[in-house]
Amino acid sequence: MKRMELREGTMLTLIAITFRICFRFGLFVLAFPLLAHASLPLSSNVPGGVAIIPLGSVSSGSETPQTWLGDQPVLVTSDHELWYAVVGLPLDMTPGLHELRVKIGGVTKTQGFEVNTKHYPEQHITLEDTSKVELSAEDEARADRELAVITELKHHWRVAQDTDLALIIPVKGRLAGRFGVHRFFNGEPRSPHAGLDVAVARGTPVKASAQGQVLAVDDYFFNGRTIFVDHGNGLITMYCHLERIDVKTGEAVSKGQRIGLSGKTGRATGPHLHWSVVLNGAMVDPELFIPAKHRRR
Ligand SMILES: [Zn+2]
Repeated sequence: MKRMELREGTMLTLIAITFRICFRFGLFVLAFPLLAHASLPLSSNVPGGVAIIPLGSVSSGSETPQTWLGDQPVLVTSDHELWYAVVGLPLDMTPGLHELRVKIGGVTKTQGFEVNTKHYPEQHITLEDTSKVELSAEDEARADRELAVITELKHHWRVAQDTDLALIIPVKGRLAGRFGVHRFFNGEPRSPHAGLDVAVARGTPVKASAQGQVLAVDDYFFNGRTIFVDHGNGLITMYCHLERIDVKTGEAVSKGQRIGLSGKTGRATGPHLHWSVVLNGAMVDPELFIPAKHRRR
């Protein structure tokens, strides 16, 4: 454990320098295209991905189309004079043909789209503190209560004029835990990893990925101190295992604003930021929303 932390420390310094250079350059290059059109995430028609479905051309004076996946409203944005539905695909979605309900100009129709199979890798983790694996009845009741609260927060819908889909990484560091990985804690299968882990030292400033409103802050059994930021139209980001939270529920935050400090609260084997992106209630791969230079694919 010690040796790993030392090696990570050296690696982190190198990666931090590289990222700092990439980041500055990335922001500079991206500033111009962002003015011209909405920056769509990468499309990835797989469970845990994002489907980008064209809905037709933007004619002057026409209302924004409305879309739903089941009963859940879905984000619609325009890009180069075309409307697109940007659909979050849940990790447990069955591959195959699915339907989006679309309302344009008072007419409701359905539009089919394909979801392909994706095999996410497995990861086996050994935890010495078994209290976070073999839960007491009391802890289990707490975790269940919190799951219900978190599920409701994830499905929150606030209509916003514009949602910035070009997210920034809240901290710069090594991408240590990828999205969708099937995890086993001490041999026990757990739910897939529904976020991106970035290895950073405790106390690293955590930035809001885009402008929005703080939807909730809390201290959870598994996620530790957590902030939910609502970016409008079903896009929500989650920042977990924080050491400190610097914002309050309802507060407006700007893109890049410090909202807290990273830590290892809740179920965490070491200090890192767990960052999740939620779209229409579905946990999706955060790497689809960040500049290509920062993706590891
Ligand atoms: Zn994580």
